[in-house]
Amino acid sequence: MLDVKGLESCYGRIKALDGLDIQVREGELVALVGANGAGKTTFLRTLSGVQPLTAGTVRFAGQDISRLRADRRVRLGICHSPEGRQVFGPLSIEDNLRLGAYALAGKANQPELDRVYRMFPILYEKRHLSAGTLSGGQQQMLAIGRALMGAPRLLLLDEPSMGLAPLLVEEVFNVIRTLKQQGMTILLVEQNAFAALGIADRAYVLETGNIVLTGTGQSLREDETVRAAYLGI
Ligand code: ATP
Repeated sequence: MLDVKGLESCYGRIKALDGLDIQVREGELVALVGANGAGKTTFLRTLSGVQPLTAGTVRFAGQDISRLRADRRVRLGICHSPEGRQVFGPLSIEDNLRLGAYALAGKANQPELDRVYRMFPILYEKRHLSAGTLSGGQQQMLAIGRALMGAPRLLLLDEPSMGLAPLLVEEVFNVIRTLKQQGMTILLVEQNAFAALGIADRAYVLETGNIVLTGTGQSLREDETVRAAYLGI
């Protein structure tokens, strides 16, 4: 479904991604793990089109989308739940969700809205309140829900467990598991490598803009280098 080859992306003279090759098959949950500054967020941003690439190609569902505008990528089904959630605090929860379907203007989005509310009943209960009143965990649910409003074929999740208490981390990972069981294709970026590798079919380890290891989630969880460098074991 996603085929990335030789991807490079720069901030001025800093090369944040240095020739990445990554594939995601339909229905797979693929995790991308690595230390701070490895380039994980930049990678997701280049996929969703908000960060330009300087070399390489991104193919999605057989189409070269390397130069496609971000809103067009949403219409193709690439939906991004960004790092730090980025919800619109003053807007209502429902308006935040509806914005997730903005690029699909003209399409009725009630089925997606109902689906998100079924998945996150707390968002339904609080739908008229401003998003800024939600707790961190609830804002994370809102960020995921907003991405789901775009009817994703590929869901990009950037650090969904960041800053959450352990119980809420567990809840977020349960949501990701459920989405996977429903057949969603997911690319998950996480600093919580242990948990991410635990639910991923496959994973890539990123280090300063390069892939240094790849394998099944389980095999990487058992890999000595990964255990020492990323799992603190
Ligand atoms: P984190 O988990 O801390 O977000 P990351 O793996 O997602 O880390 P990126 O945020 O993608 O890494 O950063 C990759 C590299 O690009 C780092 O060297 C970072 O300092 C640099 N970088 C990221 N954003 C910018 C920016 N807006 N301007 C300049 N350099 C940037």
